[in-house]
Amino acid sequence: MCRRYYREKEKKLKELIALEKVKDNPKLEVLVSKLEEIYNRNKLSRGIVFGRTRAATAALKSFIGDQEQLCKFVQVDRLVGKGKEEDGFMNDGQQQRVLKNFRKGLQNGGINLLVATDVAQEGLDIPDCNFIFRYEFVSNEIGSVQARGRARAYAAICYLIVESNSINEKREKQNQKREEDMKKAMKQLREADEGELTEQIKQRQLVLLNEYKEAQKKKERRRNMHGVEGIRVLCKECNHFVCDATYLLKKGTHYICTDPEFFNRIRETRYRKPQVYRDTDNIGLICCGNDSCNKQFGPLVLYKKGVQMTACALSCRSLIFDMNSPYGLIQFPKWAKCSFPIREEQY
Ligand SMILES: [Zn+2]
Repeated sequence: MCRRYYREKEKKLKELIALEKVKDNPKLEVLVSKLEEIYNRNKLSRGIVFGRTRAATAALKSFIGDQEQLCKFVQVDRLVGKGKEEDGFMNDGQQQRVLKNFRKGLQNGGINLLVATDVAQEGLDIPDCNFIFRYEFVSNEIGSVQARGRARAYAAICYLIVESNSINEKREKQNQKREEDMKKAMKQLREADEGELTEQIKQRQLVLLNEYKEAQKKKERRRNMHGVEGIRVLCKECNHFVCDATYLLKKGTHYICTDPEFFNRIRETRYRKPQVYRDTDNIGLICCGNDSCNKQFGPLVLYKKGVQMTACALSCRSLIFDMNSPYGLIQFPKWAKCSFPIREEQY
């Protein structure tokens, strides 16, 4: 699946780039003319063009290789992560060969330009470069710093080629802002008095702790606005009786009904193939027991951890709660917002 997708994508990109005259794509035009300028200025230049995907690096490599004005300066190859070759990855030997050629440089029969995915951003032993291009390649502020880190040789330049006003341009500007903030914060940290800093941290922790306690209290208050006794759980669609709220139980992240009569009041459909998770399997679907109503209540879950059991993980949104007069019927958007206490399973 992934392989076919990769092949199709690579083919399409190559076709697109082959079709594209440089003039039609200002980004490729900038890339080619900048490369020409760099190598004209210094024939010993060595650099990397970062592409966003494996398919993009393949297309860029063949495009750069086809440019007549570059062929006297540039020998280009591609570097991507390790994996199956059919998926456009490289094996260890291929990676090592490319890196060796890149270290050699053009003068010694090697190469002087790499087109790479972010595999070249960290870890691999890559010689210093005097220029870096990021072609439509924007990740986060850390990626930006790392990519530039590769351009650390003397007078190194780092270009980013994106369309103006594109999301990528905005993201890059945001990254630059974050990097600035990061530097400022580091500077403040270095210059701060240690005692004062400890005090500030303590104060901040106190504030956070109080906020947390307040939020807990608020939750607690909401949970106890009504007593659970006498509240009836009904189908939201047709008001069909599901169970008394005293039978509700919070089990892990699920809310289930422990009333043995529950299964007489619903309809269940078993899946042919269960959806398997680590501690649970979803083995079916529970619907309202009223024949003329098809409201789904949630999945039928097999709990595998501890004592095995099956129960319906009830969706709060499918239900309505008869709170007794004077409150009448109330809906809650989620279980955590319910105004009455619900038992929790104790481990
Ligand atoms: Zn119903």
